[in-house]
Amino acid sequence: MNDYLQKAYCMDQTVRIYAANTTNTVKHAQEIFNMWPTSCSALGRVLTIAAIMSCTYKNDDYLTIKVLGDGPIGKIYVGANDGKVRGFCENPGIQLTYQNQKLAVDLGVGHGMLEVIKDLHMRQPFSSSIELISGGIAEDFTYYFTKSEQIPSSVGLGVSFDENDKVKAAGGFLIQVMPGCKEESIKKLEDKLANLKSCAEMIDLGYTPEDIINEITDGDYQLLETKEIKYECTCSKERFEKGLRSLGKDELLSILNEDHKAEINCNFCNKKYIFSESDLKNIIEKL
Ligand SMILES: [Zn+2]
Repeated sequence: MNDYLQKAYCMDQTVRIYAANTTNTVKHAQEIFNMWPTSCSALGRVLTIAAIMSCTYKNDDYLTIKVLGDGPIGKIYVGANDGKVRGFCENPGIQLTYQNQKLAVDLGVGHGMLEVIKDLHMRQPFSSSIELISGGIAEDFTYYFTKSEQIPSSVGLGVSFDENDKVKAAGGFLIQVMPGCKEESIKKLEDKLANLKSCAEMIDLGYTPEDIINEITDGDYQLLETKEIKYECTCSKERFEKGLRSLGKDELLSILNEDHKAEINCNFCNKKYIFSESDLKNIIEKL
């Protein structure tokens, strides 16, 4: 089954819930980067919240998320638009666990900043940064929404692995309280969230987005639209050619004379682009 997001309302339409299954998306990321569980769990969580957030904006708005931690996983970069996501972390080979064998994603990410950049096609992209309060990603985004977007929110994210350290399931949810939500509704939701199974547990048990929504709302919800989620890169040879052109004539001539070609790997999908001798000559001629 394809990954998808399910949107729903509850509490008389004053609370919005987005729940997503991102298993295939995170599996794909693990395959292309050969990721170990702690790195994969961190990137998978960011990919999941990015996919969810991108479905809360208009179709062509572009979202960039940077998790700039000082832990061994290094920096995490994710881009998303309209349910399509791509991303990478600096060190895909990190495996860090607590004594109880749980993945230490927070230690892997470390301290630092979370930066969210939204290109809404206005003159300046909207950019906002907060300090990472946990490194566990879900808590950091809960804090981001409340602090930067002034929307009281709750975020749950989870990636689970099988006995061979391969992604078994991934997904998450975002709950947003709209203005006009009654105090008693908020209280009810808070009580529910305090006693809820952890998102990682629900994901591991194979909950669908609808199951997650059902669990959070005790069955009192109204389903809205669904949206497909997938890993999709936006790279192209043209885009990398632009990058090469920006190196300038002298640099390109020296690449041409020394290597006779240029090989570029896309950070986001690991695809290799090769610019042959004649490609390079063409680019230089046009400069
Ligand atoms: Zn790519």
